[in-house]
Order: sequence, then structure tokens, then C-alpha cells
Amino acid sequence: MEPTAAFQGVRCPACDRIHPADTDQRCPDCGAACEVAYDYGAITTDALFGHAADTDGPTARARSDRGHWRFDALLPFAASDAVTAGEGTTPLVATDSLADELGVEAAYVKDEGRNPTGTVHDRGMSLAATALADRDPDAIEPIALATTGNSGQSAAAYLGRLGLRSYAFVPSRSAFSNKAMINVHGGEMRVVGGRYPDAVDAVDEQLAADYYSLQEFTTPYRHEGAKTLAFELYADLGEVPDYVFVPTSTGELIAGVAKGFDELKQIGATESTPTIVAVQPTSCAPIVTALEGGESEPEPWAVPDTIVGELEVPDPAGGPQAVAALQRLDGEAVAVDDADILDSAVTVAQAEVIEMGAAGGAAPAGAWAYAEDGGFDGDETVVLLNTESGAKTPDILRSHLMGGGR
Ligand SMILES: [Zn+2]
Repeated sequence: MEPTAAFQGVRCPACDRIHPADTDQRCPDCGAACEVAYDYGAITTDALFGHAADTDGPTARARSDRGHWRFDALLPFAASDAVTAGEGTTPLVATDSLADELGVEAAYVKDEGRNPTGTVHDRGMSLAATALADRDPDAIEPIALATTGNSGQSAAAYLGRLGLRSYAFVPSRSAFSNKAMINVHGGEMRVVGGRYPDAVDAVDEQLAADYYSLQEFTTPYRHEGAKTLAFELYADLGEVPDYVFVPTSTGELIAGVAKGFDELKQIGATESTPTIVAVQPTSCAPIVTALEGGESEPEPWAVPDTIVGELEVPDPAGGPQAVAALQRLDGEAVAVDDADILDSAVTVAQAEVIEMGAAGGAAPAGAWAYAEDGGFDGDETVVLLNTESGAKTPDILRSHLMGGGR
């Protein structure tokens, strides 16, 4: 695998040194989570967006099939080497009625439900899998992660493409569709009684230390893949939006999207960055609470209890990174009740066609709460990030509808 021209390796923020490109787990010296490092001086806005903007002509189809790999000038691997199913390049859907209700100039849904396995995780998994494409399977198998469900399905899909043996450890409460599709993609699954932290503990208990981890912030490539969301929003809008509302669990999306906007600033594409708003359920909101309290590291949430399983991550692996990103970019945080999250997903489905899974509903719920608090001035462009397709959790949404008499 040839690294791209600007890719320097992975930087440990604790040791402040750059490790070679094949270091793709935590820092070998201190164990900290690493960041993919680039020589930003070698990248121009044209190099990043030049071919992306040109969608006319006979090669347009091939270009769109490249998905988010069209931004490979700022990815560690070239599009020609990518393990990809065309993830990314998801629709940015304008919704006039949402803009009216929120009292803003324009509102859009960035619909990540339309990725190959129906979630935003496909972006990061395509990078993490590409990093493994040339590796000797005997040296890395088994490959494992704990997952609330969606990322396990995505991992099984991309590792299956490489014929690699993978284990997804899911809590018993995980959505049936995730469990079924992990197996359909050829992945092994271990269903762990209890909740997500029990699944995290079970990985080490059952595999000892002898596995390659696809956990977010162990591999540096999952939140790295999420950053292309920022590039796509900039490419589609012609500027950065004013707000991006992000359903938040492990911190992976916040850290990734923030890095993407940071990089747009680094290469001179923009001088401003949007206000990123982390949205969590009130019954599991460690990152929101840390930001509001001015803490740099979230306290594990003592008694998590949300029906939105994808967002029930009481001790987020990327908590410090997410809080740091929000503080760096003047981000904000909102906690919303489960009922508001599910109501929002249902309302968007009924009014806007777009099918949001329960976790995705946190984005409009957060934006509505923010509007009610008088957060908007009226001239903003607002993006709601739908992190998963409605096909992930139709039972939860329908039960909520029936229970509420709608
Ligand atoms: Zn280190």
C-alpha cells in the first residue's frame, strides 16, 4: 500500500512524535490514541476539491463511484487502493419546512443512512479495512471490536470483503437487524448479556490480548474516515455551514468532523468553522455534561438508560477527544429526552420522506431544543447529521408512535 503524498504517519499527541505509517493501533510507547498526520503545506484547496468539483463528462460516473475517496489528497491511502463500496457522497437534502420551524435561513439533512450498510460508520471502516488490505492475515487475525451494533455490521462488511476473520461483541439489547447482518456479511458475533460496557469488557476477557482491535480511538482510522463529512458539506454548500448537529456516542463523529473542518482551515479553504453541536440523550450524556461543566474528560455515566441503544455509551472511548474538539471550535452540547429523539425521527419521516433511525433523530431533536432556547439568530445554515437509516430501528420508532397514540 503506497501512502498518499501528504500522509506522514500517525502522531501520538501525548509523546508529540510521529510514528511510521504502519503503526495503526495505539501509541507503542505510551498507549495513547493516535491521530493521522499530514503535511498540510503540500495540499491546496484545488488538490482536495479540484477533481471533485468537475462532475461533467464521461468520467463522471467513475468519479461518483469513488465516494468519499475522491478526497484522497487528505486521506492516508489512495482511492485506487481503497477497500470501498462507494461509501460517502451521501445526499445533503434541503428541507424548507425544517428551516421554517427552526427559524433559520436554510436547513439540510446530511443523510448518512444511505451508506452501504446504512450508517456513517462505513466511512471509517473503509479506511480501517484499507489499512489491513496488504497485511498478512496470520499476523492480525482475529480482528475484533465491541459495538452497540452499527459499527459491528459495518466492520463485518468491510473485513468480509478482505476475507478476514472478525468478531463483533454486541450487547444483547443490540438491534436485531445489526445482529443478523453481522452474520450475513460473514462476521462472527458474540452476544454479551448486559450493556455496551459489558461488551467492551468481554473482548479482552474472551480474546486475551491477542487480537487486532478495530475499536474507535484504538485504530486511528475510524474518526479519520468521519472527517470527510466536513469536506462534503463544504463541497456541496460552497462554504462551511453555520451549525452541524451531531448525534453523539463514542466521540468518534465529533472528533472526526471537527478534524475535517480544522483541515479545511489549515489548507486555506475557509477561515471559519461551524458551530458543532453534540447531541446526547439526557439519560446518557457524559460528553454534554463534561462540556457544560468545563471538564476535559467526561465522567462515566453512572446509570445509562436510553432506548436509543446506539447512543448508550456511558464511558466514551473518544470522550476527551470530543470534548477537546468542541472546546477548540467553540462547539456546543445539548441533551434531549428519548421521547423527543423518537418524535423527531418520526416527524422527519412523515414530513420530509427521509428515514432516520432512532439515533439519527437526536440531530433534529437537538436542533429543535436549541431553537426553543433562542440559540439561532435567523440567518443561519443548519445541517442535521442523520447517522443511521430508518431500517435499523423501525420497531423502536413504531412502538413509540403507537405508545403515544399518534
Ligand atoms: Zn505516545
